[in-house]
Amino acid sequence: MEFHYDVAIVGAGPVGGYLALKLRESGHSVLLIEEHEEVGRPFQCAGLVNPGAMEKVSLEETALSVIWGARIHGPSGIPVEIGDPRRVRTWSVCRKKFDERVVMGSIDAGADIWLSSYPVEAEISTDSASLRVNREGEIVVVNCKVICGCDGAHSWVRRRFKFGRPKEMMVGFQVEVTGYPGVDGVLDMYTGNDIAPGFFAWAIPSGSTTRIGMWSRPDLLGESSCESLLSKLMSDSIWSERFSQCRIVGKFGGPVPSGMLKKTIRPRVALFGDAAGSCKPTTGGGIGPGFEQVDLLVPEISQAIISDNHSEENMIRISKMLDPMRRKHSKAKALRDVFVTESTDEELDEIFSIWSKKEVIEIINETGEIDNPIPLGIRLLKEVPEFRRVASKAAKALIWG
Ligand SMILES: Cc1cc2nc3c(=O)[nH]c(=O)nc-3n(C[C@H](O)[C@H](O)[C@H](O)COP(=O)(O)OP(=O)(O)OC[C@H]3O[C@@H](n4cnc5c(N)ncnc54)[C@H](O)[C@@H]3O)c2cc1C
Repeated sequence: MEFHYDVAIVGAGPVGGYLALKLRESGHSVLLIEEHEEVGRPFQCAGLVNPGAMEKVSLEETALSVIWGARIHGPSGIPVEIGDPRRVRTWSVCRKKFDERVVMGSIDAGADIWLSSYPVEAEISTDSASLRVNREGEIVVVNCKVICGCDGAHSWVRRRFKFGRPKEMMVGFQVEVTGYPGVDGVLDMYTGNDIAPGFFAWAIPSGSTTRIGMWSRPDLLGESSCESLLSKLMSDSIWSERFSQCRIVGKFGGPVPSGMLKKTIRPRVALFGDAAGSCKPTTGGGIGPGFEQVDLLVPEISQAIISDNHSEENMIRISKMLDPMRRKHSKAKALRDVFVTESTDEELDEIFSIWSKKEVIEIINETGEIDNPIPLGIRLLKEVPEFRRVASKAAKALIWG
């Protein structure tokens, strides 16, 4: 059996769903191929969707909590409280509902979806592309003009077409609990080498429950696992009292690919979202950058389909449109490395004792953006004299990062 579409998208996660919608709006026929029997399960996510991404899909009704503030904690417990209840910083959503609604948006716009289906082979020629798909146990052929891989961190499309690997693959683990005594609208962040080496742990309000998790990089974990470190945070740390009434109702874990591929497009194949390694190095957020990538590239990919120009040269040109995003991520990573990943606990505590000053908190509240730490980093370096000590390291990181 053969089917014909302009674009076949492998993976009906949030990025695949959003891409399908945007391609439909550009007038192309689209097929979404999803290996699971339902959209949005299983998911591995803390459920934070930044205001920019939320605005693109208007799915505020999927929010479980609105986040306006954060209590961040240095390794020895120094707390820094930031935020203002009048300003929404991010949304804590039900990921299942969010993914479903994004994908439904594309189906309403005319995209087709095959569930319980996955590609087993893919071929590219000068004139077309084709996928052999296991569709609910039956092998069928999908002929198309472009194949898009939105199939997550371990992307089959990325491996099949030898795109290489994202620069960093972090790992995260999370439990959903009842009984955490958090503050409504405020997320907690915990740091320290013995609970989240090089990164941080979190407690995020999500309606009647709280998502408690941590992330790190495998090379920093040593003999430990994310699960054992999270358990240490909850049962054997200076904060463990806070977790004493928690009852675990769910567990999730997974990879966080960051450091976008040098090339995300080649003739008739393109990668988006986690498949392209586009998670933010500072927060691990992948939904916002995935949507951003779609918005940047769809007009160009659409034009390539209309003009039938899938040349290598044209693809290189399109891929370069992501360069500003790549640069922004690599600068943010450089700042993250200086301030968190490569800091000892003593250095981090020193940074927290500066952050905890009233005048610094004011700067953080004015300029801090969960998703874009660069303006805040620059302003702190300029205006907070104690920061000058790390200035040369951070300035180098910003210039060369
Ligand atoms: C612990 C943790 C916490 C996180 N917290 C956040 C957060 O708070 N905010 C945020 O923005 N991001 C967060 N992320 C990252 C976020 O989950 C991803 O960046 C986001 O889901 C990427 O969306 P995507 O559509 O690219 O990929 P995915 O959500 O992974 O979707 C890929 C889809 O493709 C399907 N698929 C895979 N392979 C195939 C195949 N061969 N054939 C057919 N279908 C296939 C999958 O079933 C899935 O439906 C977190 C990640 C982790 C691990």
